[in-house]
Amino acid sequence: MPKGTGVSSGIGIGRVYRMEEHTLAYTPRQVTDTEAETKRFYDAVRQFCSDTQVQANKMQQNMGDSEADILRGHITLAKDPLLWGETEKRIHDGECAEAAFEYVCRQLIQVFSAAEDDMTKQRAADVKDVQSGVLRALLGVQAVSLSELPTDTVICAKELPPSMMAEIRKEHIVGIITETGSDTSHSAILAKVMEIPAVMGVPHMMTAVQNGEQVIVDGSTGEIILSPDKTQLANSRNKRELFLQEQRELEKFRGKLTASADGMVYALVCNIGKPEDAVKVLEADGEGVGLFRTEFLFMDKTVAPTEEEQLEAYRKAAVTLDCRPLIIRTLDIGGDKNIPCLAMEKEENPFLGFRAIRYCLKHRELFRTQLRAILRASAFGNVSIMFPLITCVEEVREGKALVKELMAELESQHIPFDQHIKVGIMMETAAAGMIADLLAEEADFFSIGTNDLTGYTMAADRGNSNVAYLYSAFQPSVLRMIQTIIKAANEHHIPVGMCGEAAADPMMIPLLVSFGLTEFSVSAPSVLRVRKCIARWTKQQADTITAAVMSLSTQQEIKDFLNSRL
Ligand code: PEP
Ligand code: MG
Repeated sequence: MPKGTGVSSGIGIGRVYRMEEHTLAYTPRQVTDTEAETKRFYDAVRQFCSDTQVQANKMQQNMGDSEADILRGHITLAKDPLLWGETEKRIHDGECAEAAFEYVCRQLIQVFSAAEDDMTKQRAADVKDVQSGVLRALLGVQAVSLSELPTDTVICAKELPPSMMAEIRKEHIVGIITETGSDTSHSAILAKVMEIPAVMGVPHMMTAVQNGEQVIVDGSTGEIILSPDKTQLANSRNKRELFLQEQRELEKFRGKLTASADGMVYALVCNIGKPEDAVKVLEADGEGVGLFRTEFLFMDKTVAPTEEEQLEAYRKAAVTLDCRPLIIRTLDIGGDKNIPCLAMEKEENPFLGFRAIRYCLKHRELFRTQLRAILRASAFGNVSIMFPLITCVEEVREGKALVKELMAELESQHIPFDQHIKVGIMMETAAAGMIADLLAEEADFFSIGTNDLTGYTMAADRGNSNVAYLYSAFQPSVLRMIQTIIKAANEHHIPVGMCGEAAADPMMIPLLVSFGLTEFSVSAPSVLRVRKCIARWTKQQADTITAAVMSLSTQQEIKDFLNSRL
């Protein structure tokens, strides 16, 4: 059975449409009239930008502003001075526009594809989309249109770029399968927004399917069934009904307080990566933002964003959220997050290297710029600052001292900011866990980053499949670490949240209720499901389960036990 990554949940049952891209083949030519060829290139870019603007407008109408921004980003990319300059140079050297532009894009695609973090890697897909669009305009080739597909269609493609997603009629498409792409690709984000079940990263899918073949797409498990038999069809229809029923059930939790069965109230906030995502938080009924990953503001840039640019981004999120909390995490770079514009040195062991708070404390100007922008944004909402990857007390003290210094500076410049802004820290290293009591004396709040805490406790890289069996937040060591951190925060009366993926895991939730977590920070689509999970437990029931779990010795025993109880 073909399998990939389920990126947009739900079950789709329909007939395959194999999307074959029109060929963009051309014969490279030597040009002599380079002026005319340069003009041809710019005409094609203009054509691409105007077509893309039309698509973006359509997307804004059908989906929303932040989705349309994905395509607007393509326009910005197509006009990138670096891209233009390099292409123009090659044309002046006698290359035809097609070959020159393709070469320059290919270089950029290579750089993005070689990045270690998934987010940057996915930007290669955006460059490819721009590359194809401009080449199409140069060659006068029409794009494949997906707007006329019949109802109950499952689109199967090697790659489905965002520009093509804009053409899709949501009522007609019941599933998407692609050979490339992952959870963080723009197309995956769009599939989620359109609520179309989607599976990406399915190897050799295009050779395995035929046009018109019946197919089942399970966007939750990533499974695909080709030409299903009667039993498989019946099972999937059942599953689809259950899924839809659950969606309806979840709606009952919209607008409700997040509380356990015995009335303990929790904060249920969201993780975001862009200011526009704050709108999605409100749409999903999130109560604020527990983690704004600011590194995404730096990712696609050729130079780091200025104080004003950052202020605008943070202010936008703060204003959207109104008085709801907005925790802005300072730059968490290095490790798996490479930022090309900062030209960080390659390291032997980047996860144990010069990253996150360590990098920021040594690159004062970069850190000052970001902290000033956050402080200034605090005048527009309920903003807090959070430092990532803390391992010792000195880092918190040094970071806080800088915040204090900048507050005095802003004050002297008569620039408004929140005088009582809170400064919290991410608890995501074993070192921080071991000194949680000392750190609780320094920080205004904790947020447990289980994605890294699991890796740093188990000494297992979260992206390495060979050690994936070790990487689990249900490892007894990680659970003890989480318990220790929450206990220290509770004893020092500071709020303690969790913003790692584990916060949304139904099996983890009773343990967190019992340990005394005060805030769950999850992805926007998980809000209602997490609220429902929390509402299911009383403290006493959660304590009973947790006592049993904490006496077990292996993650498998723990998972089996929790599975049997849920
Ligand atoms: C974490 O480590 O759990 C976390 C939330 O941070 P990130 O995933 O951005 O490293
Ligand atoms: Mg982390």
